Amino acid sequence: MSGKKTEKRTGKSMADNALGKSFNELRCLYDIANITGTAHLTLGERFSEIVRILPRGFQHSENTSVRITLNRDEYKTDNYQPTEQKISADIVIQGEKLGSVEIGCTKTPPVTGNGLFSKEERLLLDAVAERLGAITEHRQAEEALKESEEKFSKAFNASPNLVAINRLDDGKFLEVNDSFTRITGYTRKEAIGQNATDLNIWVDQDTHIKLVKTIKENKKVRNKEIRIRNKTGVIIVGLYSSESLIIGGEECCLHTITDITEQKQSQEILQTVSHGSPLGIYIMQDDRLQYTNPQFQKITGYSKKELAGRELLSLIAVEDSDVVRSSTVFTIQEKNPYPCEYRILTKTGRIKWVMQTVTPIHYEGRDAILGNLMDITERKYLERKITEYEELSKMKSNLLATVSHELRTPLATIKGYSTMILDYYTRLSSDEIKDYLASIDNSTDRLAKLVDNLLDTSRMEAGLLKLERSATDINLLIKKVATEANVRANHHQIITESTVGLPRVNIDSKRIRQVLDNLVDNAVKYSPQGTKVLISAKKAGREVLISINDQGAGIPAGELTSIFDRMYRIEQRLSPGRDGIGLGLYICRGLVEAHGGRIWAESTVGKGSTIQFALPLAGAGKGQ
Ligand code: ADP
Repeated sequence: MSGKKTEKRTGKSMADNALGKSFNELRCLYDIANITGTAHLTLGERFSEIVRILPRGFQHSENTSVRITLNRDEYKTDNYQPTEQKISADIVIQGEKLGSVEIGCTKTPPVTGNGLFSKEERLLLDAVAERLGAITEHRQAEEALKESEEKFSKAFNASPNLVAINRLDDGKFLEVNDSFTRITGYTRKEAIGQNATDLNIWVDQDTHIKLVKTIKENKKVRNKEIRIRNKTGVIIVGLYSSESLIIGGEECCLHTITDITEQKQSQEILQTVSHGSPLGIYIMQDDRLQYTNPQFQKITGYSKKELAGRELLSLIAVEDSDVVRSSTVFTIQEKNPYPCEYRILTKTGRIKWVMQTVTPIHYEGRDAILGNLMDITERKYLERKITEYEELSKMKSNLLATVSHELRTPLATIKGYSTMILDYYTRLSSDEIKDYLASIDNSTDRLAKLVDNLLDTSRMEAGLLKLERSATDINLLIKKVATEANVRANHHQIITESTVGLPRVNIDSKRIRQVLDNLVDNAVKYSPQGTKVLISAKKAGREVLISINDQGAGIPAGELTSIFDRMYRIEQRLSPGRDGIGLGLYICRGLVEAHGGRIWAESTVGKGSTIQFALPLAGAGKGQ
């Protein structure tokens, strides 16, 4: 009996024991679950608590030590010591072992048939390790979410642009950022739960309605210029973009507005200044015009559209393009403005003078040139007129000096010889009287020629020169000229060379004779005595070419053209005996050109000169 009783008792106490153990395990798991559910605890705090609770789930709790390792962290009971009498389970997060839970025995317990730890205790350990893995994973996910929320919130609020989220159906704001408050003046509290109409934010209601429609249809709007009103009624110009998105199953909208009020104002100021400027203004990139103001368009005659993208150089007179280029390069290199003056070819083909200054600038994110130019055509015209006037007055005083000198010399001769003849008539031999009279005659001719030249010049310049044309035999004309010149210049030999069958030319023979006389007289005047002067005429193409060749000192190459200018004389030829005022060749050119011909000089210095002129044959030139 007693044996049975003992058996019964032992059986009961074993059952009690097992019940107690299960209760402890349950209790332990319950406590762990409680800790897991406590939101305010950090992961470390939770682990420390679990370490404290865990021994309770084991049979010999007082002899049980616990150590949890997770990554580099360690949580352990005070009685923990490294021991061989232990069981452990891994903490696995997303398939990776990140730590372990270790249960140790600090004292060797009485040996039971189950070994150091019972099967249930091992299962408890596995359950706890698994739970710890889950807590850690959950916690890490929570932390990652929190971090990303924080980041988002920071970015949301740090944005210099106004950002707001609202519901699409009623437009009520769900969230607004700090810039919303700064720009609109409404606090977050005032804005949330209200819509844009409640806050009277939109200046143009129609635009607002259109934009909402676009968002509903296209799910987004990009960079539309809009105007909003802040709490105090100030109008703000902004660039508006929005995007539709789903939040918590509801269709919402994320709006951003970049405040461009200042930018817009400075643009407007620039626009007003540039539009009202009397200067032509342009912006150029890669040598091409990107912007031109109305004055630039007015100067060039081209429209804004025609100028856009056009090369500036295509508007500049070819001769001036280097000046413009180098002034731009110097300005950029030396950081100092180098103004330059150049000619612009306008759309209508007119030439306009401008004075330009350039400045290197930044335009739409790239290097550019800002040029401003002033129309100085009028100034240039006046400058030219002044120069012409100055030249004219210089010429007038020269003319006066030369003419008075040229008048005085023959007048003095006439006066001197005529007085001599009158005073000493009876005492003079007839040869002497003849000589004196010849000198008087010569001087009178010289005076008459001078007066003729002056009159011809005036007539020519006033356009009053009239030609009396008739068909003329040039051969005959040059022969007459040579015969008479031989009488005048008896120290030179004047010869002619003509082509047989030279056609008649329709000319004013008196005037062409005047040209020939002048050229032959010059040939004589500017070549040494005893030399020959050759007058020749030939047909060349549709012209008759007449040349007067001498064996004189010649004409320097640099002066071959200038000798035909008004009152031009070669310096070293101004020696006594070579009288003249530099009008002869000028008149010759005028007369030849009036016939539709050309005149020019060829010469080898030291050997002689040839002055040639070409007259058009009938029907070949103007004036026929
Ligand atoms: P000028 O009254 O001085 O002769 P022109 O107009 O006839 O004026 O000639 C202009 C200048 O050209 C002369 O002063 C002279 O220096 C030069 N010239 C003209 N013809 C000749 C020539 N045949 N040989 C050399 N020089 C000449």
